Amino acid sequence: MPIYRAPVEDYRFLIHEFLEAEKQRDLPGFEDLTPDLIDDILTNAGKICEEVLQPINQSGDAEGCHFENGVVRTPKGFKEAYRAYSEGGWGGLSAPTEFGGSGMPTLINMALGEMAMAANQSFAMYPGLTSAAYGALIATGAPWMKEHLVPKMVSGEWAGTMCLTESNCGTDLRLMKTRAVEQPDGTYRMKGTKIFISGGDQDLTDNIIHMVIAKIPDADGQIHDDLSTVNFFMVPKFLVGEDGKMGARNGVNTGGIEHKMGIKGQATCVLNFDDAIAWRLGPKPEPFKPGEKRSLSAGMAGMFIIMNAARLGVGVQGIAIGDVAYQNGYAYVHERRVGHALTGPAEPDKPADLEIVHPDVKRMLLHCRAFVEGTRALLCWTALNMSVAHSKRPDAEAAGFLADLMTPVLKAFCTDLGFEAANLGMQCYGGHGYIRDNGVEQFVRDGRINQTYEGANGVQAMDLVGRKLGRKGGAAPLALFGALTTWLAENEKDEKLAPYTKGLKRGVESLQAATMWLAQNGIKNPNDAGAGAVDYLRLMGIVTVAWMWARMAKIALTKSDDFHKQKLMCARYWMERIIPECPMLLERIQAGSANVMEFN
Ligand SMILES: Cc1cc2nc3c(=O)[nH]c(=O)nc-3n(C[C@H](O)[C@H](O)[C@H](O)COP(=O)(O)OP(=O)(O)OC[C@H]3O[C@@H](n4cnc5c(N)ncnc54)[C@H](O)[C@@H]3O)c2cc1C
Repeated sequence: MPIYRAPVEDYRFLIHEFLEAEKQRDLPGFEDLTPDLIDDILTNAGKICEEVLQPINQSGDAEGCHFENGVVRTPKGFKEAYRAYSEGGWGGLSAPTEFGGSGMPTLINMALGEMAMAANQSFAMYPGLTSAAYGALIATGAPWMKEHLVPKMVSGEWAGTMCLTESNCGTDLRLMKTRAVEQPDGTYRMKGTKIFISGGDQDLTDNIIHMVIAKIPDADGQIHDDLSTVNFFMVPKFLVGEDGKMGARNGVNTGGIEHKMGIKGQATCVLNFDDAIAWRLGPKPEPFKPGEKRSLSAGMAGMFIIMNAARLGVGVQGIAIGDVAYQNGYAYVHERRVGHALTGPAEPDKPADLEIVHPDVKRMLLHCRAFVEGTRALLCWTALNMSVAHSKRPDAEAAGFLADLMTPVLKAFCTDLGFEAANLGMQCYGGHGYIRDNGVEQFVRDGRINQTYEGANGVQAMDLVGRKLGRKGGAAPLALFGALTTWLAENEKDEKLAPYTKGLKRGVESLQAATMWLAQNGIKNPNDAGAGAVDYLRLMGIVTVAWMWARMAKIALTKSDDFHKQKLMCARYWMERIIPECPMLLERIQAGSANVMEFN
């Protein structure tokens, strides 16, 4: 049976020592955040994840979800766990208090999210998507939806989903066919089929609020292959009146559930919208003139809220799966005996040494750990930037640019490395990892989807290179390089810190050169940007995590206990073993696109 221990101590370090949350009282949500309250939340979040969610992870994978007579059932134990999770208020941890939530900042909610995803990704996706959905409703919903729907979603009584994908389009949403036609009473009737909808149906909640994108026909009654007529809708499974009363079943029918490689306890559904009653969200679009072209409808803003929240949530899944795989690998190599240390037996009285004596085994585990703890710091720093962006601080705008820049990086870098870590954790088990009984092959299967959904990682890289770098005159990379070079200038004369600042500087030089090269060549030849995008995203991930490690090393150098010493060990690994990838990635980016474009 796999194990999981919630990383409460590491989050306490990050929140108290690294981000100095107590000094952030001027930020929204931080006003009343005392150290005791933070510790209490982290401890209790860890407890429910370890004691309630993790024990049904392996059984949920073995049993999977069921679909019979149009009804979806989640695996045994999920209902009870969902009730405990909701009654504990965990689904509304960062929801505003006016909607029944606890009003905690995103930073605290991300800590809970990581623990829940590591304990049981299939389960944690149900409340995870619900919080992204109510976030979008708070931003774009009508007053009656905020009054009656949002509190029920915050409490966990009702759930939420995000419905974008159709059989012929996931990335290229211009091609979607689902349409919604306005009715005299202002509602819409929706027709179409969405596929791969996480939590699209389940037996955990009384109602499900689907957040759906669909096209409104143009003035000529046609559906066009562009995004201009795409709008954002709220479509409940059971109808809800403006007084909040639940009524008859809406025309949203479950066509089936997918049989998947992993996250088998998560119901991934085909949803048929058969003249379903839908409410359009966001500003009312001006009527279209025949043939008029628009780039993007205003109603899409709500969808971007839900998508950005979900992208960060998927990045968290990458870290989570990496950590649980690491923890199990670590435990196994301290029990398994295999071979002898290269320098002679470590335990001569035993037939073989523990597996941990081997340098390559240490490398595998350190690789996972330096990734998990480094990206966790990057995630926390980004979450803090999101709060700064919503504050009145002078650096609010720059913080917003940084959070925006880091969103695709966290999604893709954390899920790529999370999958690498899941694989390495399994490798520590040798052949026993490949056998189902030990439960670690599940991490590889569960973690694989994180690289694909919520925008495939290659598409995240295109978002970074094609949109984020150039927006507002390059404001985001300028904010990042400004912060990085200022920190380096302040710290590079510190001799004790030199092993870390030198590595960081090397990485920053590669990243600056790659950014410059893409700025100069990507516009002339978009294929150069496309061919280098994935390498560029990885480079930015490595360098930003190196910055986090250098900053954590600075704190650790002032302490002598084991916890802080181990931070220095991981920081050293990142600087000496991961930073050397930077010049290689730069060289690959500068090689341009001809070497791939000749492949037809
Ligand atoms: C288990 C599971 C759960 C899901 N949950 C949801 C959900 O809750 N809601 C929802 O709406 N969807 C959901 N999805 C759908 C998921 O988001 C899409 O599958 C994903 O975005 C990719 O879309 P696609 O499958 O149509 O692949 P395509 O769009 O056909 O892309 C195929 C591949 O082409 C490449 N590619 C495509 N475009 C580009 C480009 N511009 N640049 C570079 N490379 C490109 C990528 O490598 C990509 O993987 C889920 C999918 C799965 C499997």
